[in-house]
Amino acid sequence: MKRIYLDYAATTPTKKEVWEAMKPYFLTEFGNPSSLHSFGQKARARVDWAREELARFLNCQPTEIIFTSGGTESDNLVLKGLVNYYLNTFKTKPHLITSQIEHHAILHTCQDLEERGWAEVSYLPVDQYGRLKVAEVEKAIRENTILVSIMYANNEIGTIEPIREVGKMIERVNRKRAKEKRIFFHTDAVQAVGYLNCDVQHLHLDLLSLSGHKIGGPKGIGALYVRKGVPLQPELTGGAQEFGLRAGTENVPGIVGLGKAIELLQSKAYQNKVARMVKLRDYLIENVLKTIDDVILTGHSTERLPNSASFCFKYVEGESILISLDLEGVAASSGSACTSRSLEPSHVLLACGLDHQTAQGSIRLTLGEETKKEEIDHLLKVLPKIIERLRKMSPFGNQNKNQKPKER
Ligand code: PLP
Repeated sequence: MKRIYLDYAATTPTKKEVWEAMKPYFLTEFGNPSSLHSFGQKARARVDWAREELARFLNCQPTEIIFTSGGTESDNLVLKGLVNYYLNTFKTKPHLITSQIEHHAILHTCQDLEERGWAEVSYLPVDQYGRLKVAEVEKAIRENTILVSIMYANNEIGTIEPIREVGKMIERVNRKRAKEKRIFFHTDAVQAVGYLNCDVQHLHLDLLSLSGHKIGGPKGIGALYVRKGVPLQPELTGGAQEFGLRAGTENVPGIVGLGKAIELLQSKAYQNKVARMVKLRDYLIENVLKTIDDVILTGHSTERLPNSASFCFKYVEGESILISLDLEGVAASSGSACTSRSLEPSHVLLACGLDHQTAQGSIRLTLGEETKKEEIDHLLKVLPKIIERLRKMSPFGNQNKNQKPKER
């Protein structure tokens, strides 16, 4: 049976060109970039090239790019690095603003900072489509606010947040604040890179997290854009790598792979693939809504990532749909890859106002550059049958839809 992969938001295959670019840095050009000999210098030159590639992509200086192990580490560095700076400088707790629908890399780190007594955090609500209101962010600002961290696009429902508008508002607020009380603005752009404009000047950002494995790069590499002058304190201390912000010998093959993946995103061929992806995504959404009853499209209808389709099917459990789809050769997800093994309903769907039972019936289908129409057609053929079969078996089945579901 041919296997169909529709879980590109969880991870992507490493592109051939990326792997080819990385290979020498495992085998022949294996030097440590900090070494002065030619082995080291060859590795250093390629790390510098990758840094410049990222800087071009984000429209910033190469010295404002820090390589990390991925999105999670970049997010941690922002939150803990700024909180530590504030605690050390002002000797009082800083205040952070984020949203209720962030990835756990942000949410759990914020919760940890609160539990340790190191920060106060406001978790802002979103509307039923997962969109945040700029006015809510402004209202939440306090005297001790140091950071606003809002994701660019959500990993479960694909909703795009009004990052540029938030950035402009923060800039306006900062004009009236003392320089040392400046609010910094961060976005987790892990799902947005490759689909949305990531020019940090255009977006009015101070910090941006990205990850290699979501864009055809390898796993275990990511980056953080840090605007010059943002007073981050390092999490990893040791050597002076990454401008003193992230000690440890650089992951040279990973960095080269990330540079190559970023370069490829800027090609005309890639842009054409994204345009095709939007059409396929719309075809998928339209047909699921047409052929299956009692289904909700989660997330925003237009402000959503080009590759993302997500639904809640009433009276069934997402996990059962996933297992049945897998038996038909289709790999999908019930939401975030990180929470897919837990039976808790998604915090994102609950924040959008869905009840627990409906939120349990969620699935996420995310397309990639190589997704074909025949693959979507196969999904559209098997999914209605799966839902119908599961509903017949389910204690919440639609034949029982007027009955009150059992307490869970
Ligand atoms: N942030 C978002 C929005 C994500 O979707 C993910 C991964 O799913 C991460 C952060 C974590 O990135 P990484 O897997 O590179 O640590």
